[in-house]
Amino acid sequence: MDDLILFPSARVARSADSRYCMPAMTSSNQISGYLTEVFSSVQGEGPYAGCRQLFIRLYGCHRRCRYCDTPETVTAWQPAGFRPDSFRIEKQAGAGYDRETRSNPLTADELVKLVRDFDHPRGLHHSIVLTGGEPLMQTGFLAGVLPGLKRAGFRTYLETSGDLYHELDKVIAHVDIVAMDIKLPGATGNESAWGGHRHFLKRCRDAGKDVFVKAVVSADTPDRELDQAAAIVAAIDPSIPVILQPLTPFGEADNPPTLRQLFDWQARLAENLTDIRIIPQLHKAMGAL
Ligand code: SF4
Repeated sequence: MDDLILFPSARVARSADSRYCMPAMTSSNQISGYLTEVFSSVQGEGPYAGCRQLFIRLYGCHRRCRYCDTPETVTAWQPAGFRPDSFRIEKQAGAGYDRETRSNPLTADELVKLVRDFDHPRGLHHSIVLTGGEPLMQTGFLAGVLPGLKRAGFRTYLETSGDLYHELDKVIAHVDIVAMDIKLPGATGNESAWGGHRHFLKRCRDAGKDVFVKAVVSADTPDRELDQAAAIVAAIDPSIPVILQPLTPFGEADNPPTLRQLFDWQARLAENLTDIRIIPQLHKAMGAL
């Protein structure tokens, strides 16, 4: 049994209420989940860039960012009802493209065991990254995985599009670090989710989590979108780090901002925020997974 959220329309970010979830089982560590890959690499984004992390990429995402580099995880770009029957995993931590295939779905207990076996030598990884896709599309599964990882002594790191706040409520107690996107329509080509982002960030802050905000920016990002993002952060805590991440060209997304634009935006945001950093994707520059 699994609990992957099935959104009737991938255009709409909604809470996973009972209409959109498969029935939950009583024991969360027996709920199965669907992965697309597991690998060990360097964190290439945000303030933890350079840390060695173990990445667990989950299937499913309700958004459709124009620059998305994991289109195989995006629900709207797969056949209706699709779930991957297998995932890729490095033959050993850091082996890169030397990978093997394993079967989906797997239970939370099975995934925690996999992580324990993969973290070799023990303690190699700064933290375990739950990424996607949008990992909060599988919160029933995460509700078993995250406590299991904590019991095993791991630090947990959630990479999220930052709008499914009702789903966040179900697992936030077991998350240590939240890497939260604010999606800017000028870069994503999608609808905005300002209200969702506001609720999401407030929950992270109220729960005392280590949270930072990342906004991918392109040459076409209008100032007003950055002003709106800054207003959301400033109203909650102006000291929350905000990362301006220049778009990395991928597919049809070929319009990264200029250095002049980045500097101008950093100065603009500094009027209301205290920690604005410009950080491109380090792992892409290194050729890492
Ligand atoms: S939120 Fe992430 S996984 Fe989903 S479409 Fe955007 S970039 Fe891709």
